[in-house]
Amino acid sequence: MSETLAPVRPGKLIINGEAVDAASGRTFETRNPATEERITTIAEAGAEDVDRAVRAARAAFDDGPWGRMRPAERARLLHKLGDLVLANADELARLETMDNGKPIFESRQIDVGMVAGCFHYFSGWASKLSGDTTSVNPSFFTYTLREPLGVVGAIIPWNFPMIMVGWKAAPALAAGNTVVLKPAAETPLTAIRLGELALEAGIPPGVLNIVPGRGTVAGEALVRHPKVDKISFTGSTEVGQHIMRTAADTVKKVTLELGGKSPNIVFADADLDAALRGATTGIFYGKGEVCAAGSRLLVERSVYDEFVGKLAERAKKTAPGDPMDPKTRLGALVNEKQMGVVLGWIETGVKEGAKLVAGGQRQPVNGKGTFVQATVLADVQNSMRVAQEEIFGPVLAVIPFEGVDDAVAKANDVFFGLASGVWTRDVKKAHVVSRRLRAGTVWVNMYNYYDPGMPFGGYKGSGFGRDLGADCLHEYTQIKSVWLNLE
Ligand code: NDP
Repeated sequence: MSETLAPVRPGKLIINGEAVDAASGRTFETRNPATEERITTIAEAGAEDVDRAVRAARAAFDDGPWGRMRPAERARLLHKLGDLVLANADELARLETMDNGKPIFESRQIDVGMVAGCFHYFSGWASKLSGDTTSVNPSFFTYTLREPLGVVGAIIPWNFPMIMVGWKAAPALAAGNTVVLKPAAETPLTAIRLGELALEAGIPPGVLNIVPGRGTVAGEALVRHPKVDKISFTGSTEVGQHIMRTAADTVKKVTLELGGKSPNIVFADADLDAALRGATTGIFYGKGEVCAAGSRLLVERSVYDEFVGKLAERAKKTAPGDPMDPKTRLGALVNEKQMGVVLGWIETGVKEGAKLVAGGQRQPVNGKGTFVQATVLADVQNSMRVAQEEIFGPVLAVIPFEGVDDAVAKANDVFFGLASGVWTRDVKKAHVVSRRLRAGTVWVNMYNYYDPGMPFGGYKGSGFGRDLGADCLHEYTQIKSVWLNLE
């Protein structure tokens, strides 16, 4: 791995197979939150650029190569893109860590593999999507066709900038759609690089367009564009609600993956050492800027004091470090604004009566950066705001409970329903509780595991529709019924 990647090239828009400047000539800066240094400038897409990208995607779908390509050929190109991701793993990982502040361990060992895995996994589906023949009447030949939607607009957040390209673009493209993707303005570098790699893989111009820019400008233009058939969004609840309302004007299909306040439940009969590891990685992995973070830890009363003590010890050892150091497990928050929000939440928790047993402060590394200590708030009541609202930082709220019914009631008593964890040695209890939890994912004796083959998405306020897994292909296809009169 090379020591530096500097200077990082200025980022361009990728529209119709070309790296271009914005029509307005505008650019914005992207910064490294760990060093507070400017990384490079990025072309800033406006409505005119989004329109150009959508027209290119439309042409590639309606008249162009992608819509008419044999599925096996699409599969080959997507698989090649997965290979190119792996071949460029070091560069992608370093760009991601610079842009987002996450540890290089996560970018290199987890994120790159997930992106490649998405293109490899979904390439396999390109040639396996099929309709049915049905037998409604002997006088008719009736069958269904599973068809792509057309142009998909993907709007993604800053917490998993490159993984989200895989989650959204891989299934959409495998199903035969073309894509216009808007990365978060905070973290555009890896999406642009993936757009370049797609062209290198031989994916034709216009099939995957990348339009970095502001949500309120480029994102809004994508959602309003009449020639976009669907918006697949991951991000905040407020923006998701706004997108849903706006998309109504053009009757666009929408998938929303919004935030979470996921319960991680530790029963007294669990392997408590394993649960301790799961509780800490459940919240501190990704600096807690993870929609599925196990940010509400429910611990059974009989082991509560001992568990909280060990948790505090472990959190204190999880010190923030230089994200480029392979040993670092807690990086910098994405920007100063997010750091302010997280520190504000810690203050709110203490004011509400929670007990601060670890962390709670900003802790610069080498005198700089938006690092926040691994923080544990104990004795939290489920009704407190720190138990109900998404903090999106390395802050764990610990809540005691008594028995299965109380655990399930507290776990479900929240607006969100994205993920959950259960720690127990009792197999029956594990299954019963898994059924009763109102969340899109339940991890039993593990936390924060993902695979391109397992669907991921929300119940309740966490949104609807699924990313990943065979199920997510329904989000990118539609069914046509064909009737043929045999008489
Ligand atoms: P946002 O929801 O604002 O950002 C997500 C994406 O939506 C970004 O690409 C953003 O663009 C874009 N966007 C913003 N406004 C619009 C709009 N009007 N129309 C279309 N697209 C738009 O998240 P934030 O970055 O503001 O994070 C705020 C909070 O959201 C976090 O603290 C966290 O609680 C939650 N969050 C949840 C995530 C999840 O995975 N579920 C991920 C990220 C955040 P832009 O580039 O301008 O930001």
